[in-house]
Amino acid sequence: MPKLTIAIDGPAGSGKSSVARRVAELLQYVYLDSGAMYRALALKALKRGIPLNDESRLEKLAKETRIELKSPTPEHEAAGAKNCVFLDGADVTQEIRKPEAAQAASHVAAFQKVREVLVAEQQRAGAGGGVVMEGRDIGTVVFPSAELKIFLDAAPETRAERRWKEHREKGDKLTLAEVFDEVIERDKRDRERKVSPLVRATDAVLVDNTAMGIEETARLIVMLAQERERELARAGRPG
Ligand code: C5P
Repeated sequence: MPKLTIAIDGPAGSGKSSVARRVAELLQYVYLDSGAMYRALALKALKRGIPLNDESRLEKLAKETRIELKSPTPEHEAAGAKNCVFLDGADVTQEIRKPEAAQAASHVAAFQKVREVLVAEQQRAGAGGGVVMEGRDIGTVVFPSAELKIFLDAAPETRAERRWKEHREKGDKLTLAEVFDEVIERDKRDRERKVSPLVRATDAVLVDNTAMGIEETARLIVMLAQERERELARAGRPG
């Protein structure tokens, strides 16, 4: 069967990471988390004290930074991580999941020059197909010709509650109201920015998983993917 490029975009807490990882596992594809790259770069900027509104310094930083995504170690997996993230060789898997890193990521991600560097990396990483990549602009900018595009969404209250539970499991003492505000603020910034905003690609399948679990959502996407694989095989595309 031909191997697809599957793009999964959506707002914070829509279940992208868990769903994308499970879809990749079921199809034996590679899972790529583009948000982790923005988070890792933002973390480095925070540590270096680089202002989050300084596009040219952030671009320079992006060019001299090495970000690697690897399968999670059993230890990280037990802590809820979907992948291991290395920033210039150092393991930042846990650190990038803090709310400060998430907020900083959405500032850094608003700059065209920063995005160009990371998008080129993402395109390289996914070039061979057989990948499930999740983010905000995968179906619109990174892989506009992806064979399957999903826009994953859920009610804001549900998305905030999912994030809050994740934080609680890690021992973070945030209230549900704080997490709700963080999620809403970040979504607004991601949707309203001029460059590559979070938007549903016209040819993306909208999946609202407010009332669905991860497994159910993943299996629905796998069914859509298998249908696309068969269509492409019938059209004569080699595997
Ligand atoms: O998906 P995640 O919550 O890890 O993404 C963190 C931030 O990175 C998002 O809020 C968004 O600003 C940015 N991002 C992006 N484009 C992507 C993935 C993430 O702008 N493809």
